[in-house]
This record gives sequence, structure tokens and C-alpha cells, in this order.
Amino acid sequence: MLDTKMLIGSKFITGTEAPEKVLNPKTEDTLIDLPEASVEQIDAAVEAADAAFATWSRTTPAERSALLLKLADAIEKDAEAYATLEALNCGKPRIRVLQDEIPAIVDCFRFFAGAARTMHGLVAGEYIPGHTSMIRRDPVGVVGSIAPWNYPLMMAAWKLAPALAGGNTIVIKPSEQTPLTMLKLATAIAEIFPEGVVNVVVGRGESVGNALIHHPKVSMVSLTGDVATGKKVLQAAAKTIKRTHLELGGKAPVIVFDDADLDAVVEGVKIFGYYNAGQDCTAACRIYAGKKIYDNLVADLSSAVKGLKYNQPNDDENDIGPLISARQRSRVASFVERATEHKHIDIATGGHLAPGKGFFYEPTVVAGALQSDEIVRREVFGPVVSITRFDEVEEALTWANDSDYGLASSVWTRDVSRGMQMASRLQYGCTWVNCHFMLVSEMPHGGVKSSGYGKDLSMYALEDYTVARHVMVKMG
Ligand code: NAD
Repeated sequence: MLDTKMLIGSKFITGTEAPEKVLNPKTEDTLIDLPEASVEQIDAAVEAADAAFATWSRTTPAERSALLLKLADAIEKDAEAYATLEALNCGKPRIRVLQDEIPAIVDCFRFFAGAARTMHGLVAGEYIPGHTSMIRRDPVGVVGSIAPWNYPLMMAAWKLAPALAGGNTIVIKPSEQTPLTMLKLATAIAEIFPEGVVNVVVGRGESVGNALIHHPKVSMVSLTGDVATGKKVLQAAAKTIKRTHLELGGKAPVIVFDDADLDAVVEGVKIFGYYNAGQDCTAACRIYAGKKIYDNLVADLSSAVKGLKYNQPNDDENDIGPLISARQRSRVASFVERATEHKHIDIATGGHLAPGKGFFYEPTVVAGALQSDEIVRREVFGPVVSITRFDEVEEALTWANDSDYGLASSVWTRDVSRGMQMASRLQYGCTWVNCHFMLVSEMPHGGVKSSGYGKDLSMYALEDYTVARHVMVKMG
């Protein structure tokens, strides 16, 4: 049985507006027609969050921590069901959700349960004689959180956990394409958290999302989504000066030096260029390869990528799933079609829609790409990796930084000091050396430039979801 109702205050309610089709991307079947929230229902959700803020914001870190731990336990206990549902709604191999995503989600709630109790800052002291100054970190208020479709439950966890740990109340909107795991989580949340602390509304971005980001009682908007949506959030925020937290995609450069361990690079890109069918803002999608390693890398990566399994009847054998929608698949296909119009491009493997039902696209390697090519410059968000040859170190660095995006990057070399030098000069929120896409709850995840700002995970997220305040006491 699917959970289909929104959580507003303590009530589970069905939306009253036009229904949105929620699909199974593997079969293209409709799972459910889900009516979206009305303006009145969004208003009620924000009012419930606002009312709950008065008491929730004054709970102790220990009290909030205990509830976050309970939620982590509830998800862990129900891991199989969450994994099944996420796989159904996103088309991901279920085993990947169960083994990779759910433990990370549980850990995220546990990390912030601990983090809530261990915030650090300046020590109190007398900075003017006779006056004691101290820093407080207080919650921001009602947070409007808007999540994307690529990791629905994980993105919800990244938004809910630090906001709750910091003492905020929340109205969260999952993507209209992937609301199911958030709606299931709402039932667990309602059993654990006081009324109104977390509210869940469903619907499309331009209607429900838009109403949420413009709501005068929403003090902060947290979005993971497209750059264009981020700009809309900023415009809306300007009206009532809301705090914003934006994670807006990426185009991760992968610099492979001639001395790199070729097998490790091939294995790393095979996994992290194509994980989640490449629908990942940190995907290892833009390779720059030194001139001596280039040919071997193209050959070995292409044959490895050819071996990636998808659309197998036994789901446990699948490495990747389909794209999220027909629209996303045709977007990916048109990027590859336009790339093939260039004479210098060689589609080393893939390059076609996969036959049959489901929004599958062949895992693709685009060799011979040039820095000026669209396939190198724009976010494809599909199972497509480009490879560009470079001659000089400076050229690779300049090309890697020549991007509007700035989320993630990686450098592959046996020379650790060269890796460190590159890491210090790459303009990205994260640089991995000899690995890619390794996320941990203790370390921040977030971008620079058009990839947005604000950190998910780590103590930095807790800082983003709280306000530093100065209290000064004149003595005697
Ligand atoms: P999207 O921006 O279309 O949608 C994201 C969310 O924003 C959805 O819930 C959607 O309903 C909502 N939304 C859309 N228009 C809105 C509006 N006008 N007002 C308010 N809300 C609105 O993006 P998407 O297609 O769901 O997700 C894919 C994008 O997200 C990619 O570009 C990807 O790179 C990015 N992404 C970034 C990160 C990161 O950590 N930086 C992580 C995952 C995805």
C-alpha cells in the first residue's frame, strides 16, 4: 500500500488540485495520480510549521537529538520497504538503494543527532572591559525545503536532518516525479516528532514550489535542483529577504595524468560516471586525459562501460537503471546527437536509446571531445561521459576550471604532490584525488559558482541552518 497523503500539522490530507502522474521509469506505467496541494493547504502547512516553531525552537539539543535518532532507527528498521519504493519510483537497482543510499540516509540523521549537541564557536569573553560577549546559535525559523528527483529520500534527509537539529521547523516538497518515499517517511515522522515540526506538501514546482518560496512566513528556502530554479528562488527570496541554500548541479572534471593507475581510473569512472544512470550532480562526466594515457583510457573505459548491465530481468544484476522520464531521456539523446555532428567526435560506445519499454539510454563514451563542445560544457545528467585529450598540465587545469559549474572534481595521478597542487587550484566545492564521489556525513558537500552555495552534510550544514547571534552583558 502506497502512502499518498500529505502531512499538514498532525493531519494526513490529500491534495485538492490537479493530479500529477507518478511513473515507474522502468515500465513507463503510472503508479498513481497524485493531486497536488492547493494554495490554502500550503498556507496551512506553513502556519503549522510557524506555530510549532515556538516550542520546537526551545527544545534542548538533547531532546532534538533523541528524536533524530529515533527517526534513523525507524528508517533502518524499514530499510527494505524504503528501498523497494525508491527503486519503484526512480527505476534504480533496488540493491543499490538498499546498500548505498539507505545506510547513508540513516547515518545522516545519526550524524546530525550528534552534531546538534556538539556545536562549537568562539568562547565567551570580555572584548570591551566590563562587558561579557557570547555567541548564540539559534534556528532560522520555518524552512521551505524543495528536493529533486535523483535521490529523493537522500536529498530529503540532507535537508531535514540539519534543519531539525538546528531547531527549525519545515515544510518540505519532494519532486512531483518522485514523492513516494517522502510520503512514507511522513508517516514515521508523524509518530516521532511533535505536530507541525515537519510538514510535507506535494505538487509541481511552478505551482506548489512557487507558493512555498514566496510565502512570507518562510524564513529560509533550501533547494536542490536546476540553476534556473535556483534563480527563481533568489528572486522570490529578495521580496522578504529569506536566507537561501542552493545546490544546483555540476559538470565534474576528471583530470587523468599520464602516470595515473589506468585500471583504477577505468573502474572509478565506470562506477561514478554512470552511477544512478549519470543523474548525479557530481557524476564523473568530463574527463581530461593526458596525451600518453588517452588512447588506452578510451579503449579500456569503452569496453568496461559496454559491460554495464541495465534492464536485466533479475534486478540484482543491474548496475544502472533508466532515466527518470521520457523527457530526460530525449534531452540526453539530443545532447549526444548534437555531439555526433562534429567530425572530431567518436562515440566509442553507446549513443542510442535502448530498445523496449522503460526510459533506458545506452551507457555512452564520447571520445575526441573538445573544450568548446556543448557535450563538455553543459550538464547532460545522463549516462554519458566525454573524454578530451590534453598536452600540458596548465591546459587541463584551465579547461577544468573553465565552467559555470563548481561542485565536484577529481584528479588521478600517482604523484601525490601534483594531486595536492591541482586540488589547491581547482575551483570546486570538492576535489577527490584518485577517487570520485566519496561522500561522508562529516564532510561538507556543496558548490561554488553556478553550482550554488550552502553546504549539505557536516557541521557546516548545521551552521547554514542556524543564525549566529551576539549577546553582550554589561557587568556591575
Ligand atoms: P528542478 O529544478 O526542475 O526541480 C527541483 C525541485 O524544484 C523540484 O521539487 C521541483 O518541483 C522544484 N521546482 C521547479 N520549479 C520551481 C519553481 N519555479 N519554484 C519552486 N520550486 C520549483 O530540477 P530537477 O530536474 O528535479 O533536478 C535535477 C537538477 O538538480 C539537475 O540540474 C541537478 O544537477 C540538480 N541537482 C543538484 C544537486 C546538488 O547537490 N548540487 C543534487 C541533485 C540534483
